[in-house]
Amino acid sequence: MILANKWYVPWDETLIRQYDVTAPRYTSYPTAVQFKALQAIEVQNHLDRQRPKIHPLSLYLHIPFCQHLCFYCACNKIATKDRTRPDVYLDMLEREMVLHARNFGHRPITQLHLGGGTPTFLSNRQMTRLLDLVAVYFDWDPVNRAGEFSIELDPRETSDDMLRLLRQRGFNRLSFGVQDFHHQTQVTINRVQSFELVQDRVQKARELGFGSINFDLICGLPHQTSASFARTWEQTLSLSPDRISLYNYAHLPERFKPQRRIDPASVPQPDDKLCILRDSIALLQQSGYLYIGMDHFAKPSDELAKALLGGSLQRNFQGYSTQAETDMLALGVSSISQIDGVYLQNHHAIGPYEALLTESQLAIKRGVFLTQDDKIRQWIIGQLACQGRLSLAEVSARFRIDAPAYFSQAWEQLGKLAQDDLLTLDADLVTVRPLGRLLLRPILVTFDAYFTASIAGLYSKVL
Ligand code: SF4
Repeated sequence: MILANKWYVPWDETLIRQYDVTAPRYTSYPTAVQFKALQAIEVQNHLDRQRPKIHPLSLYLHIPFCQHLCFYCACNKIATKDRTRPDVYLDMLEREMVLHARNFGHRPITQLHLGGGTPTFLSNRQMTRLLDLVAVYFDWDPVNRAGEFSIELDPRETSDDMLRLLRQRGFNRLSFGVQDFHHQTQVTINRVQSFELVQDRVQKARELGFGSINFDLICGLPHQTSASFARTWEQTLSLSPDRISLYNYAHLPERFKPQRRIDPASVPQPDDKLCILRDSIALLQQSGYLYIGMDHFAKPSDELAKALLGGSLQRNFQGYSTQAETDMLALGVSSISQIDGVYLQNHHAIGPYEALLTESQLAIKRGVFLTQDDKIRQWIIGQLACQGRLSLAEVSARFRIDAPAYFSQAWEQLGKLAQDDLLTLDADLVTVRPLGRLLLRPILVTFDAYFTASIAGLYSKVL
């Protein structure tokens, strides 16, 4: 099935090369680059002010451990073979839950996500303890309350028993790290997992009744070619995942130490990578997947696609989400919370994270309190990224400003993007065109008050 024109993302080589710049992915605004050290008392006062609120909560738990080190990895993780390490870490997570429970424990959790690292590095006993802790300190009742309860899985680290446990405890969404099925690529990135293994895990998950299965794949890995990735797609599509996230490998060995184990000569050249991406996007759309935006694809039957088509799509630290605007409380080393106009990030390093919690103090290292200007721009970026449209009249009414005057400079810049057919400008209305859905970040950056040439290098390329 080929999608209707309105949703089909075209490929324009000239414009894509022109707009393939570096820009934030806007899982937050302001982005993490703007986070600063915060006064502990200010943070605590803000959290205490949340206590009377009763609207739903999204909870994220970061499990940083990995049994194997993937050489492409740019995540915050701890490579270890010591399976007892999570026991101490769970003690710390419990301390963090205790500290937050008095302000957030009564709010219904409608979204729970376990990310990493490798969440299933935990044994069944450790996972049971973790989920028991969530149920003790928070209002998490997946049997009686609908929600999106999901976990990132490494197929090599996911037993039948673990899948059964997760399903029994109410998880309904799984995200498998697939990356690429090409054996030479897998050997080079130190992540060998056969197609048969992934197929087996997916079949088991479906038998157990998991409603939505996501695959993560990566474009631009070592030894990847158009032909090898076409074969990966053939195998991927034969398993019919409901959602696909197609990430872009950026080879930055000076920033990410594991990448130093990859021979740069094995990484596809930019032109070759662009061809692989072009073919991938075309194939996915021809196969009936809807391009959601910024790396994400979904079948029209999936909740994410329905949210896009129905105008209720949201964006948060996990990318796109179906959940209506909820606060997100994130626990664990390096995790980022988004709570009522404030971003708060825990320490990256396990040492200070554990030291602070051992003294029953929050492990928050930095963050940002949003100004009114930040809130306006955050809302605008969310509208464009999720709904693909922006009404300045709505901005004026919602924030009590003269939006056309406030954003006159941004409007001028949008004029150039309109000429290139990335969007249309109609009176005070911005509508993102199909090509603009692919080149979304150059549109969003127009409203970013912090983005300058001097920090552009901190972000990844658009494609
Ligand atoms: S890619 Fe995932 S599984 Fe691999 S080392 Fe990084 S966090 Fe661990």
